[in-house]
Amino acid sequence: MKTLVTEQQIQDSITRLAQDIREREAGKPLTVIAIMTGAIVFLADLMRKLELPMRVGVVQTSSYRGGTTRGSLSINSDMMLDVKGRDVLLVDDIFDTGHTLKEVIAMIDELGPRSVRSAVLLLKKGRQEVEMRPDYVGFEIPDEFVVGYGLDYQDMYRNLPYLAALEESDLVAHK
Ligand code: 5GP
Ligand code: MG
Ligand code: MG
Repeated sequence: MKTLVTEQQIQDSITRLAQDIREREAGKPLTVIAIMTGAIVFLADLMRKLELPMRVGVVQTSSYRGGTTRGSLSINSDMMLDVKGRDVLLVDDIFDTGHTLKEVIAMIDELGPRSVRSAVLLLKKGRQEVEMRPDYVGFEIPDEFVVGYGLDYQDMYRNLPYLAALEESDLVAHK
């Protein structure tokens, strides 16, 4: 595995993101919605650095499992908060093709929020298949499979405090 973004670089970036978000979103309490499971570590750091009044909820997306189906994606919103009339900040780990964020935004839009903006830690360059782009982006990274800081490979590595790119030799089954 090779380190792509260090712990310090991540923290510095989130401090900057939090400052940007605070300048633009200050006003009513925010409704922060994180996309499970990859966003948990980013959420934990970002929500504390934001220093804004907020409510926090989560949704889970998966390509095949149960829940509300939108496109090829299913969204479980059992643990989401009411968003009607609210200023929503969606939080995800990585913007790759963009379908996940686009579908979750479409689902939330139907519930009548006052505004919806999105923050991602990572954006993979050259991979996007949708028109939209997240409002707040921590890092643009090359097209590599990354793990750590919430992101997994076969449900492992989420606990690494830094981001690493998986290499050929890391591709083994974790039983
Ligand atoms: P998208 O719908 O934008 O293509 O994909 C977004 C989701 O795919 C992310 O929330 C993340 O769960 C997963 N994903 C995309 N790229 C990577 C990656 O490089 N590493 C890991 N661990 N997950 C990724
Ligand atoms: Mg995800
Ligand atoms: Mg995953």
